[in-house]
Amino acid sequence: MSDSSSDWPTDTIPVVPADAAETGTARPAGRDRAVLRPVAEQLAKVLGTIGSIDPIQLALLDAQGLMLAEEILADAPLPGFDNAAMDGYAVRAVDLRQAGEAHPVTLPVVGDVLAGARSVSGMGPGLCMRIMTGAPIPPGADAVIPLEHTDRGVARVRIHRPVRTGECVRRAGEDLAAGALALAPGATLGPQQIALLAAVGHDRVMVQPRPRVVVISTGSELVDVGKQAGFGEVSDSNSYMLAAAARDAGADAYRVGIIPDDHARLLDVLDSQLLRADLIITSGGVSMGAFDIVKEALGQLGTVEFTQVAMQPGSPQGFGTLGRERTPIFCLPGNPVSSLVSFEVFVRPAIRKLLGKRNVHRQTIQAMALERIDSPEGKRQFRRGLLHREPDGRYSVSLVGGNGSHLVAALAASNCLIILEEDVTEVVPGARVTVQPLMLAQR
Ligand code: AMP
Ligand code: MG
Repeated sequence: MSDSSSDWPTDTIPVVPADAAETGTARPAGRDRAVLRPVAEQLAKVLGTIGSIDPIQLALLDAQGLMLAEEILADAPLPGFDNAAMDGYAVRAVDLRQAGEAHPVTLPVVGDVLAGARSVSGMGPGLCMRIMTGAPIPPGADAVIPLEHTDRGVARVRIHRPVRTGECVRRAGEDLAAGALALAPGATLGPQQIALLAAVGHDRVMVQPRPRVVVISTGSELVDVGKQAGFGEVSDSNSYMLAAAARDAGADAYRVGIIPDDHARLLDVLDSQLLRADLIITSGGVSMGAFDIVKEALGQLGTVEFTQVAMQPGSPQGFGTLGRERTPIFCLPGNPVSSLVSFEVFVRPAIRKLLGKRNVHRQTIQAMALERIDSPEGKRQFRRGLLHREPDGRYSVSLVGGNGSHLVAALAASNCLIILEEDVTEVVPGARVTVQPLMLAQR
């Protein structure tokens, strides 16, 4: 999904820089613009703080999708012995030099070699042995003639063509020599790499583990999902959403129950969760309100900073570390859309970094805006969108729902975020915009 600039003539790029906007929609910089921290700066701070987790040893299938943290050498050659690539007859090439369709060569068959044969007797000149794919080549033979070029005889076999020396023989060590590098540290373990690890006899490997991410919802209005939300109550959707997002990013996620807006309870729960967490996410309680207890309680510790970031939604952000291990903690705003956008922008890259990924960012693509989109000057805006693929292969995108960051149904109907840079105030229909697809990632 790469953007080729030739896809779109440049005169159709309508992303209007603020000072070039002639539509009258460009707004003057807000008075508080100076105190907003740019997204890039906050992200740099986050990634600069996130360290690494010690590698652990896991069983092969538990290591799937993770990054290898050790060098794997082949202890033995791969394949381990010369073996047949086809079902046929093990022969000496020289014995079949005269063989042809019109004048087959007939050889006595002196035995069968099955796959799994632990020892094989030698084979003299002028003889052959029936052999199965994967079975060891008998000493004395130097080629395999596939069944289909023979009459499939049992005691004697008629062979209709010559073979080259080495034909249909898989040589010991032709895949990997003994002592050769099978996989280097940093390899991501997909099915192919897991096949190789198994082939060279490793059933456990050292990998960068999945970060254990603890997700906490705060808010006295929240009730557990499944309980009927009464007047004034709200179902806690964030902890499910953020746990799912953390898993999607490659983490093991643990949902901790709801914490009401109570200072002491929050500190208590955080204290106990520090034992198992590699990373903590809270949602809610980071705005300017009188009962924004996450900000109140953690702001006093001096290790978590609460900032207004130049983005919409998701401006209030808390980030820092807790405890002796300096466990990173993200305090995200409570509105579901703000929370998810904040996760995408800051937490997902942090989880990817903990996994040891070199490229921690999702891919973005360019798409044609199907409608007009406004954006506040000085803030990076993230709108929910629906990305389509046009018949010509190019992408187009439309808005889903309005600007409200409480709109969960619209969020669920979207498949991407439309990203409008800080200096953009307006996008006109037909313009090219940057889109970040939110497809399910590989674990
Ligand atoms: P806050 O950031 O705590 O001021 O919350 C902002 C809005 O998000 C309020 O309307 C909350 O009710 C809502 N909210 C906070 N936490 C959650 C949650 N876990 N699930 C759903 N909505 C939430
Ligand atoms: Mg709240």
